[in-house]
Amino acid sequence: MFKIFSRNFEYVDTHNGEVRFVPTVRDIYLCPICFEGFKEQDLEATSKTYLTLEHVPPDSLGGKGALLTCSKCNSESGKLLDKQLLTYLEGLDFADFLPNTKQNRPMTFNGNKINARIRVDGNGTVNLHLDPTRSNPVIFQNVIKEFKKAEDSLHEYVISGSMPLPETDSRLVEIALLRIGYLAIFSTFGYCSLLNQGMYYVKEQISKPTEKIIEHPYSIVLPSFEPGIYILKTPKELNCFVVIFDLKTKSTSRRFSVMLPGPSAPGVKIYSNFKTLFGEISNSNIPFELEHLPVKKYVSDIKLAFGYHFFWQKFSTSKSNNENDERIL
Ligand SMILES: [Zn+2]
Repeated sequence: MFKIFSRNFEYVDTHNGEVRFVPTVRDIYLCPICFEGFKEQDLEATSKTYLTLEHVPPDSLGGKGALLTCSKCNSESGKLLDKQLLTYLEGLDFADFLPNTKQNRPMTFNGNKINARIRVDGNGTVNLHLDPTRSNPVIFQNVIKEFKKAEDSLHEYVISGSMPLPETDSRLVEIALLRIGYLAIFSTFGYCSLLNQGMYYVKEQISKPTEKIIEHPYSIVLPSFEPGIYILKTPKELNCFVVIFDLKTKSTSRRFSVMLPGPSAPGVKIYSNFKTLFGEISNSNIPFELEHLPVKKYVSDIKLAFGYHFFWQKFSTSKSNNENDERIL
């Protein structure tokens, strides 16, 4: 993987003399998140910062090893964001009582708060375990009495319980999704996809998740499209790359779509345009027009090294006069 991407970096450097890096890059892997350069020996975990295998989507959500990031980017922002996303998705699973889910949470029964564990097994059976060792003994007894009353009652007896879902930071969840989209674009198209001001903002946002660099990285709802990489052609205010992917928990799979800015207008404005067009919530009834990009070895084939720009010229609203791009593919 190091060799494939470092060669791709050279392709971008040498291609037609249009792009030149100073100094010239040879046998360098540039971490796509912090833009630090690494040598092949940095694959060994001997130095303070080294290269690690990065899964897209995250390993815990059914992803595959797709690229390398440095240990700093992988462990700092990566772990924080992936954890938020996993907690969020497991919370959704649990709220739906999907099989193989469990939560340890305080529960309130008729005003009495005790610690409890709810587990939904593989058959969908819900088990409620009230934990006396982690609850106030008096309150615990009260709850047990309530349950006994319910058991003894010949009539319907209502014990109302409530259990808050684990708290997740919805903004960090959005940035975690943005990170998956960004890494999917990079792992598919290589370094040419990073020569893009809008993508630079995305990179900054995912490497500093607690800062507000992109005000609201909206995701759109496109459930009828298969996973893959697309260019969104209309509405033109949202002209951008779209990455559609599935995230798999132990219980289910959910589909997400993330917008990533293309190399020319509207660029990073897609996010603010989205808000102007649709408000806070995306609407699946909006007629989005998308072009599905073919799956090819863009990173490892020098002839395809600028595939990212080729597709953008072909399908974006800004039209190309560049015949070289046509020739590449
Ligand atoms: Zn890094």
